[in-house]
Amino acid sequence: MNKTILEERKSQMHRIGEEPFAMACDRPSLAGAVSQRACVFCGSRVVLYPIADALHLVHGPIGCATYTWDIRGAISSGPQLHRLSFSTDLQEMDVIFGGEKKLEASLRELISLHSPKAAFVYSTCIVGLIGDDMEAVCRRVSADTGIPVLPVMSEGFKGNKREGYAAACKAMFRLVGTGDTTGISPMSVNILGDFNLAGETWIVREYFKRMGVEAVANITGDGRVDDIRRCHGAALNLVQCSGATMELAKMMEEKYGIPYQRVSYLGVEDMADSLYKVADFFADKDPDIKAKTVALVREELSVLMPKLAELRRDLEGKKVAMYVGGSFKAFSLIKAFRHLGMRVVVVGSQTGTEEDYKELAAISDPGTIIVDDANPLELAQFIKEKDVDVFVGGVKERPIAYKLGVGFCDHNHERKIALEGFIGMYNFAKEIHASVMSPVWKFMPRRAAGRVTCTTKEAVNG
Ligand code: SF4
Repeated sequence: MNKTILEERKSQMHRIGEEPFAMACDRPSLAGAVSQRACVFCGSRVVLYPIADALHLVHGPIGCATYTWDIRGAISSGPQLHRLSFSTDLQEMDVIFGGEKKLEASLRELISLHSPKAAFVYSTCIVGLIGDDMEAVCRRVSADTGIPVLPVMSEGFKGNKREGYAAACKAMFRLVGTGDTTGISPMSVNILGDFNLAGETWIVREYFKRMGVEAVANITGDGRVDDIRRCHGAALNLVQCSGATMELAKMMEEKYGIPYQRVSYLGVEDMADSLYKVADFFADKDPDIKAKTVALVREELSVLMPKLAELRRDLEGKKVAMYVGGSFKAFSLIKAFRHLGMRVVVVGSQTGTEEDYKELAAISDPGTIIVDDANPLELAQFIKEKDVDVFVGGVKERPIAYKLGVGFCDHNHERKIALEGFIGMYNFAKEIHASVMSPVWKFMPRRAAGRVTCTTKEAVNG
């Protein structure tokens, strides 16, 4: 009998149609289960690091900084300071006697060398244990250097990646409201939760420009400190990747009365719906905005849809597994795959909530496996059982796919192709087509030996 699935993990898996919906989630990872999840510190780092003109200093051992160095390759149209990884490189003596002096010296040296607009200082596990007063050090250095120096309370052990997102939002919120909002258009938005991994933020900004809507701040892809300082002047916050930046949107709504809307720039329907939501919001300020938006969507789709139809001919009926950070991305991707005639048969996320998983179950096909906070063995097991043709994930999922002889699409970390907007949907379809249709897979042992008939269901059921 296969014992890949640990008894304690079974409540975090669900098979649609085979049992009533119930998913345990949003809780600490099971000790020893080797979760794919990142730590709190990593959660903060991925959210904040695309702010390109800020200094990002990791207060902790060198390993924490190395692990998250340019973790997603987020690109900038200007400064590149974010792509460097600075660390206080705490050693045994610092752990015994405290690391505050080292932190202060590092901050002063780096600020004088790089003249950043602000500095973020990330707390790591060991700093939480030894109790360095980061707040006091940051306050002192800020007073002397004249730039905001912001502690990010992201001790790795204190929860899961979601807490890291919250710590990042709290740090950023200290910047919001400190800049001049003069000249901001009444038809303006902030773009939250896009990280500009391959220029996506620029695609979306261009759509808004065509609609006559000003984008005040990118939070945080291709982000700038001065834009975040004045982003409380925008009329609307658009929140993609809700786990990462929703906290900031809620704090801004409470303090500045700025409403927010959840959006997604992935796929066809969700991209169009997001633009229509913005058009609806500003309809009383510009009576023509709806017509402009309809024309924009029509123009883009007239180019996109024939191209998708061409790729669909080869992809029809192929199967997909995906494992993503936040489950919101999964909703859009399921719809995107339907345009290609493909079926998502395994879907999981690191940080989904019960509400997210219910929504996911509602749009998924019968038999689909939904999994929360998975580990590599579980993912491998599900991929084999469902005999998928392509696995969509991030850098940690890639080796799982390749070891199993399955095509892989990096939707998160190392990609260099924009996957958002209408052009992004075409890029995505081309990527999937190239992966799935590659002749290399027929030489892989899994295919060569015929279909794998692993019975994960048996394993799940014990
Ligand atoms: S903060 Fe802790 S869990 Fe995160 S990388 Fe550093 S040592 Fe590891």
